[in-house]
Amino acid sequence: MRIGSGIDIHRLEFGRPLIIGGIKIESSKGEVAHSDGDVLIHALIDALLGATAQGDIGKLFPPTEDKWKNINSIKLLQLTLQKIHYKKIINLDCNIILQEPKLSPYIDKIRSNLSILLSMDISNISIKAKTAEHILQEFGSGDAIFAEVTLLLEE
Ligand code: MG
Repeated sequence: MRIGSGIDIHRLEFGRPLIIGGIKIESSKGEVAHSDGDVLIHALIDALLGATAQGDIGKLFPPTEDKWKNINSIKLLQLTLQKIHYKKIINLDCNIILQEPKLSPYIDKIRSNLSILLSMDISNISIKAKTAEHILQEFGSGDAIFAEVTLLLEE
């Protein structure tokens, strides 16, 4: 068994799509990024690479390389899953900090999407979302998003 953890932060701006775990969220602001900025998938990729001690997302998919520009993060996840050697992911526990909109209507859609992408039972995927209580500067003002993923891999 190997434990992995990953975090990611993105700035949010008006007019950008907000994508979390491969699901489009209705929002006036979205992630600013070289790729599509899917903060949860990026944290998940870092957790997978962390569990297998293979570096991080920036090393595997350098933002300086044009081939990763505006790429769908799901594609990056699929490439990561091909790269690491594992039998299965036992469970995922994820935390998201986002001031708005409320993510509760989307949580099960995101869990379901991750269960398909990772070939996992949805009952082993936990996603918790909370606001920044209007504090923590950019997080509190709705101008940034944070995601954290912890997982357990069986090799
Ligand atoms: Mg990122």
